[in-house]
Amino acid sequence: MHQPVMGLTPPSPVQPTIDIEAPGARHGHLRLPWSRNDSAWGNLMIPISVVVGGPGPTALITGANHGDEYEGPLAILDLAQALRPEEVTGRVILLPFMNYPAFRAGTRVSPIDGVNMNRCFPGGPDQSITRQIADFVFRALVSRADIVLDYHSGGRTLDFLPFAASHVLGDPDHDARCSAAARAFNAPYTVKMLEIDNVGMMDTAVESLGKTFVTTELRGGGTSTAESVGVARKGLRNVLIHAGILDEPPQVGPSRFLDMPSLDCFTFAREAGLLEMLVDLGQPVRRGQTIARIWPVDRSGAAPEPCMAGLDGVLAARHFPGLVQPGDTVSVVAVEDAEAAAG
Ligand code: CA
Repeated sequence: MHQPVMGLTPPSPVQPTIDIEAPGARHGHLRLPWSRNDSAWGNLMIPISVVVGGPGPTALITGANHGDEYEGPLAILDLAQALRPEEVTGRVILLPFMNYPAFRAGTRVSPIDGVNMNRCFPGGPDQSITRQIADFVFRALVSRADIVLDYHSGGRTLDFLPFAASHVLGDPDHDARCSAAARAFNAPYTVKMLEIDNVGMMDTAVESLGKTFVTTELRGGGTSTAESVGVARKGLRNVLIHAGILDEPPQVGPSRFLDMPSLDCFTFAREAGLLEMLVDLGQPVRRGQTIARIWPVDRSGAAPEPCMAGLDGVLAARHFPGLVQPGDTVSVVAVEDAEAAAG
């Protein structure tokens, strides 16, 4: 039987190897039993760092919710080796590779159970590995946090404009706290998202507790760039400053405010084939404009299938590799948010 850890009822199979309460900087693992052919009584060892200073708020920072997204892990690793308890008012919990098996495999979902971590929250202690990790993160770490920053990027199949985002939640105070934190991140773009398929997302689970939640999309394509990692690093410090955890001047540059108001933002592929983008990220588009074409790959001499924008805005995301399948998201158009820019 599992021993109860960190006051969890029912107990979690996850055992942290470090104390996350006492002052100081500690680096260890979340140890999760994983019995398999090459290690009968083996464990998953998921890296975690905790930096605890004087009394104050707790921030939980997570990367690699999806295993093929790299800006978050890089920003978190950098902070974990640099941050000193003397700099911290409160506590910073750093989980650079939340879905560790997926991260090690370089895949979006876990190779162990095939589960997408961002569709399995709040998880459960008696369920499959990815759900066990989600359950521990939710009950032991999110529950202790005042603010949560969960990094995303496009992964191997999408490329995004670099943005920090908050969701439209319906409660004005909660909306204001989350959108202020997304603004504080100060990515080149700041986005308000109406989440269309939010069941099982970490976002939804964290928000259901009334916590301040910020997420990102910082490019993609299954890699990172000097620019995108710079945005991730700067944003992390800025969010900790905003939370009152770090006391230093924020680095603030221009940010454009965008809105993703409806399903009309999305264009999905109707055919399989070779993708030709006619517009690049950040460029303006008009409703009805052909923003991409899909060429047939089983014959020549045939016309391509046009992909149209559903509304006026800027191209905020695109499919990444050259080949598409029916149902793939080809593009996401976001709308300039004049109200947020003025506010
Ligand atoms: Ca993602």
